[in-house]
Amino acid sequence: MSIQHYVHLIRDVPDFPKPGILFKEITPLLQHGPALRAAIDGMVAGTRDMQADVMVGIESRGFLFAAPMAYATQSGVALIRKPGKLPALKVRQAYALEYGTDLIEMHADAILPGQRVLIVDDVLATGGTAQAAAELVASVGGIVAGFAFLVELGFLGGRPRLGDVPVCSLLTY
Ligand code: AMP
Repeated sequence: MSIQHYVHLIRDVPDFPKPGILFKEITPLLQHGPALRAAIDGMVAGTRDMQADVMVGIESRGFLFAAPMAYATQSGVALIRKPGKLPALKVRQAYALEYGTDLIEMHADAILPGQRVLIVDDVLATGGTAQAAAELVASVGGIVAGFAFLVELGFLGGRPRLGDVPVCSLLTY
């Protein structure tokens, strides 16, 4: 069954985490085995041509997709985390959120120079997080081969911010 069959498992939560934000809440989809499998299979199929060596997951829901995608493609996983979580030498990038500003960090040796990297998250909203992730990857010499999202909020205009790099999203609102 394709992911389109399971769209009802993504629920809208109005005014979370701030008034005016319509939050796309994916935990019902995660709880449903066939839907989770359809999501991972769809994201793997939609990114195969990008020929990534490493999946970079963005904390925290990006991890849930990056790891099984890496398992399915026999690639590795690298982590982009919120500040203060990573113990070793790291690089850091500031970015603007749909609701506020924040920082992300990655270990400086998480990606080797020249490795092809796929940046993975659950939702593409304004694109600020993914854009900052791409800058982190590039800052350590990685090649951003593409981006993968389960959900794209097209009306927020995130995709153009990601430049010419291929973007896979399974469900667009
Ligand atoms: P952005 O940087 O605006 O593209 O935001 C992307 C990140 O914030 C992702 O990690 C999402 O999990 C989260 N996010 C932002 N807006 C929403 C939303 N409306 N619904 C669900 N998650 C969101």
